[in-house]
Amino acid sequence: MDFLDLDLNLTEEDIALRKSTHKFAREVMRPIAKQLDEMSPREVIAPGSPFWDFMRKSYELGYHKLLIPEPYGMGLSSLQQTIVLEELAWGSVGLTVALTVACFPAFMSSMNPLPELVDNIITPFCDCTDASVIGCWGITEPDHGSDTLMTHHPLFHDPNIKGQCRAGMEGDEWVINGQKASWVSAGTIATHCSLFCTLDNSMGLAGGGIAIVPLDLPGVSKGEPLNKIGQRDLNQGEIFFDNVRIPKAYMLVGTDLYEAMLELTLSTTTSLMGMLGTGIARAAFEESLEYAKERVQGGKPLIDHPNVKMKLFRMFQQVEVSRQISRAAFIYNRSAETPAEEYSIAAKLQGTQSAFDVCCEAVMLFGGNGLTKEYLIEKLFRDAKAMLIEDGSNESLAIAGGHKVIQNYPRVAG
Ligand SMILES: Cc1cc2nc3c(=O)[nH]c(=O)nc-3n(C[C@H](O)[C@H](O)[C@H](O)COP(=O)(O)OP(=O)(O)OC[C@H]3O[C@@H](n4cnc5c(N)ncnc54)[C@H](O)[C@@H]3O)c2cc1C
Repeated sequence: MDFLDLDLNLTEEDIALRKSTHKFAREVMRPIAKQLDEMSPREVIAPGSPFWDFMRKSYELGYHKLLIPEPYGMGLSSLQQTIVLEELAWGSVGLTVALTVACFPAFMSSMNPLPELVDNIITPFCDCTDASVIGCWGITEPDHGSDTLMTHHPLFHDPNIKGQCRAGMEGDEWVINGQKASWVSAGTIATHCSLFCTLDNSMGLAGGGIAIVPLDLPGVSKGEPLNKIGQRDLNQGEIFFDNVRIPKAYMLVGTDLYEAMLELTLSTTTSLMGMLGTGIARAAFEESLEYAKERVQGGKPLIDHPNVKMKLFRMFQQVEVSRQISRAAFIYNRSAETPAEEYSIAAKLQGTQSAFDVCCEAVMLFGGNGLTKEYLIEKLFRDAKAMLIEDGSNESLAIAGGHKVIQNYPRVAG
């Protein structure tokens, strides 16, 4: 279903991009996501699974390098990136996350594209058209979830809180030991990891570094794919590191810049999650609108009942508000010299909570049908629930965001 975009400056190119991405989401993503949702986590990633059809088609079209800047990426503006993200999430949020984490090692490398990184990480990924190069983002650990994401909060600097995945220098190489949580998206299928690990334990979680780790190196092993209620089309699993050696140049960021780079990264990822939430919320709203036109109760279609009108309007409102804050925060934080992460956190909370609220309301509106696998709504509902925890639980992000607002408000643009 097409919709009015309130941005009066959208170009014909922007609108054409939205339409072509929507077609891909409707014709490729939705049917594949439904199939994957009903498969076991092992079947999802087995050779011949429709998951690989989706990945190959996405890579052929270049969606895997959506977030990578020029000259390596798709060449889209930040606004266009938000348009694509919303449409892809409308198709399936789990598959969209699989694509966005796939670019993480190349994305992080592109921030300081040293020749070794361009040749070994960025170019092989960006030139890949068969999904044989897949990245992931390893930050959370079995004992560290929310606290790994709370930059500038006192918890982040508490020397008693010690990371479980550590790297130390030996000669000319970094040696990595420890593990990342079973929540690493694409963890069991990735070929490369953008690893956020501890370099100096005395600094607490702030004493980190960001490394690129090819996952075919000796000492790397992986766990079983995780089985979960939502986003079942998204593979997840833990990664273990046992004396894994990487060249010096693959440690992109040391302790001096770790907190700043993490904050910059989160400013992108949390507003991105807001955009994905907008996509799910819109999907649930549109399903509800169509259903309410068809379903007759009390002698008239549901849309003719005043409380249903009110509910549909509330859903529509949630979608529109989510798009505005998420887009604005994403665009601002992709260009500003100093990120304003609290705005991205606001976008994540707004977008993902709206997604969940709209889906809850949609399940009610569908009545018994909302609970069955015959309709899309129950999948959207499960996928949206996962979003409240994904990339930081909304509650702990609100704590981190509150801390930032207290520290920074009013901000001066930068
Ligand atoms: C679908 C999905 C995809 C993910 N993808 C990735 C990925 O690609 N890479 C990766 O590394 N990780 C990934 N994660 C992990 C995700 O970042 C963590 O799940 C998230 O940060 C929460 O951590 P946790 O699950 O350990 O919960 P915990 O941190 O243990 O939190 C448990 C509860 O305690 C609350 N809580 C935590 N801290 C505080 C506090 N200080 N004060 C008050 N309450 C608190 C939280 O709000 C939550 O309700 C993903 C998770 C999901 C669900």
